[in-house]
Amino acid sequence: MRWQGRQGSKNVEDVRGGSGTSRAVGGIGVGVIVMAIIIQLLGGDGCAVIQQAATSQPQTQQAPQQTSEEEDALAQFVSVVLKDTEDVWNKLFPEQLGMYYQEPKLKLFTGQVSSACGHASAATGPFYCPGDHKLYIDLAFYKQLQTQFKAPGDFAMAYVVAHEAGHHVQNLLGYTNYLHKQRRRISEKEYNKLSVRLELMADYLAGVWAKHANEMKNILQEGDIEEAMRAAHAIGDDTIQKRGRGYVVPDSFTHGTSEQRMRAFQAGLENGSIKKELLDAFFDMSREL
Ligand SMILES: [Zn+2]
Repeated sequence: MRWQGRQGSKNVEDVRGGSGTSRAVGGIGVGVIVMAIIIQLLGGDGCAVIQQAATSQPQTQQAPQQTSEEEDALAQFVSVVLKDTEDVWNKLFPEQLGMYYQEPKLKLFTGQVSSACGHASAATGPFYCPGDHKLYIDLAFYKQLQTQFKAPGDFAMAYVVAHEAGHHVQNLLGYTNYLHKQRRRISEKEYNKLSVRLELMADYLAGVWAKHANEMKNILQEGDIEEAMRAAHAIGDDTIQKRGRGYVVPDSFTHGTSEQRMRAFQAGLENGSIKKELLDAFFDMSREL
């Protein structure tokens, strides 16, 4: 992907090197974390301690912690990709939906982070929290894509960022809330099915993004689409489950099979449309995707 020398997003909150708090505005010291761990070991609520410390700490400037040059370059890359998603969705929302796009924030963290959706660790993988309109990424996931998922390349990571931004698009358009409301009304099996559809729609939206970002900025280089497809394949539920347990359990899929994910990304890439009927079709059970 062509990204070097291009402008990054203003919506990145970089708290890498800290433990869920901002480097820029100071935050929780190691002592508080240790105390919280001890309290948790003693059966108390360590998270409450951290939360309390976070709200009661004065906003003092702390010396930034060391991050490697390689990781800083990766942070810049993610920032450029986020900017590309902003430019595409800022254009397509008014053009195709007659709406304005509200840009999400992206929080870069190391190890663990607290969000409006609760505490998360790097093991969760990149995620979007609808409650605070933020994408959360631990850059260690890039290495994981290369080693664990055998999906190397910058565009594999760009696809992951675009997928999470796709979840934000879904949130703005009401699909996330639609799914949430079904939770108590339908069986777990049906709910998982719908949840897969939401994930596939995010892959579709990542494809839409790739098409328009390339038309606007000529970002794609040879092999990029293959990198994204490899990532979509690698992080499909069936592949992950096979890797993890040696067999697959379709009803517990929440992201879609590798084949479905690749197909959804490809469809977005070819189609480039976010017309409501098209997106609605993801929830239409009678349609094969
Ligand atoms: Zn997702």
